[in-house]
Amino acid sequence: MKAHNSMYIGGEWRPAAGPGTIAVVNPATEQVIAEVPAGTAEDVDAAVRAARAAFPGWAATAPAERAARLTALRDAMAARKDEIAETVTAELGSPLRLSKAVHASVPVAVAGSYAELAASYAFEERIGNSTVLMEPVGVVGAITPWNYPLHQIVAKVAPALAAGCTVVVKPAEDTPLTAQLFAEAVHEAGLPAGVVNVVTGTGAVAGQALAAHEDVDLVSFTGSTAVGRLIGATAGAAIKRVALELGGKSANVILPSADLAKAVKAGVANVMTNSGQTCSAWTRMLVHTDRYDEAVEAAAAAVASYRAGDPHDELCRVGPVVNATQHARVRGHIDKGVAEGARLVTGGVEPPYDTGYFIAPTVFADVTPEMSIAQEEIFGPVLSILRYEDEDDALRIANGTVYGLAGAVWAGDDSEAAAFARRMDTGQVDINGGRFNPLAPFGGYKQSGVGRELGAHGLAEYLQTKSLQF
Ligand code: NAD
Repeated sequence: MKAHNSMYIGGEWRPAAGPGTIAVVNPATEQVIAEVPAGTAEDVDAAVRAARAAFPGWAATAPAERAARLTALRDAMAARKDEIAETVTAELGSPLRLSKAVHASVPVAVAGSYAELAASYAFEERIGNSTVLMEPVGVVGAITPWNYPLHQIVAKVAPALAAGCTVVVKPAEDTPLTAQLFAEAVHEAGLPAGVVNVVTGTGAVAGQALAAHEDVDLVSFTGSTAVGRLIGATAGAAIKRVALELGGKSANVILPSADLAKAVKAGVANVMTNSGQTCSAWTRMLVHTDRYDEAVEAAAAAVASYRAGDPHDELCRVGPVVNATQHARVRGHIDKGVAEGARLVTGGVEPPYDTGYFIAPTVFADVTPEMSIAQEEIFGPVLSILRYEDEDDALRIANGTVYGLAGAVWAGDDSEAAAFARRMDTGQVDINGGRFNPLAPFGGYKQSGVGRELGAHGLAEYLQTKSLQF
């Protein structure tokens, strides 16, 4: 697999300061497919200095020119769609079909949306006798996870660029090759040197150095709640802005009036997509006690078409999970579910193949709200089905975790579902299968995070106001 033996800093590929490397492993085959440099604090410092040097020029660039560069970035990614999809499949293990339809495509749409927003956004506002200027916050440190490797980068870099910020990206160690392709697209798009920099490396070294760097003005992090807490504390101590997109344990609430078959089928698809490695996945399905058995049967039937297999197979719908650690972690959750008395309907800890980090798509029934599989983020293809007695009970269960990232409600009509959704403590709710909207704000209530991504709300995260009184 193609890999750069260097870092993208100041508009060029530069050798890393240290000799360390990170092996990139294909999770379907367990083979090492490439090596990339393990960046150190020295590399991070060089990247932050490049971003700082580029900041005044980029911040002063007219929004129309920033829009033009974002359009060029969108086009450069679109031109590489196939290479991006192949690379995501190789290092993440997602089915090629999904890599093309989602991993390589959504970032193109998001970059395009920010090209439009950069051109149309009101960077000045009049309030009484004041003119309020929306100015870029400065140098952004973007620390991203592996689950949607390109989307997570673009969801931070595109709004930062639209705002006039410059960026240092530290991608996840499991998926650095996609990040290097992104850097190539940045270069092709003609962004001035230093506006976007990419430093590969581990979280503990390069990530920590970026989060703690005194010349970074805003840290935007997506990943686990544990690391988010650390980064939030570091940023708080330095009185630095921070955005945290963390975990989730979202509820899929099927009200009694819903089209049960449709809701269950969509719920299973939602959890199995990307091998369950989606922070907003509806991993808890809530069904009224009168229709519970029917729902469990429908889920078992639906999941039968999600056999884990070779991601290059056109029919494959579930690949492996990303690495050995996640494989062990997800199986540990399944073990715990069985030990706590949940009923295993299908799947389980037994890996379906000898090679590759595969998990059999798993459905648990008779899950009660206090069980660990109903409370903890699993990040694997595991669905828990819970029963409720009435709407208040459903709401208590839906809101009864530390998380609040997403959710779904199904009912006979949209207004009934929306009335329930208004009472949910969560940042996004899909009503009767509503489609993903790349312009709607995405982010968490409670421990799912701080701040919002996407659309105009995502852009506002990278701006600070200055009021001029006349
Ligand atoms: P993680 O939080 O450890 O890693 C995410 C990013 O943070 C990576 O780039 C990593 O290198 C970096 N990082 C790690 N430690 C750091 C530190 N001390 N300082 C600065 N940066 C650091 O996540 P993971 O290990 O890849 O996954 C573990 C769990 O996180 C998963 O099981 C899942 O529950 C959750 N997760 C959530 C999301 C999400 O989108 N919310 C994405 C990936 C993983």
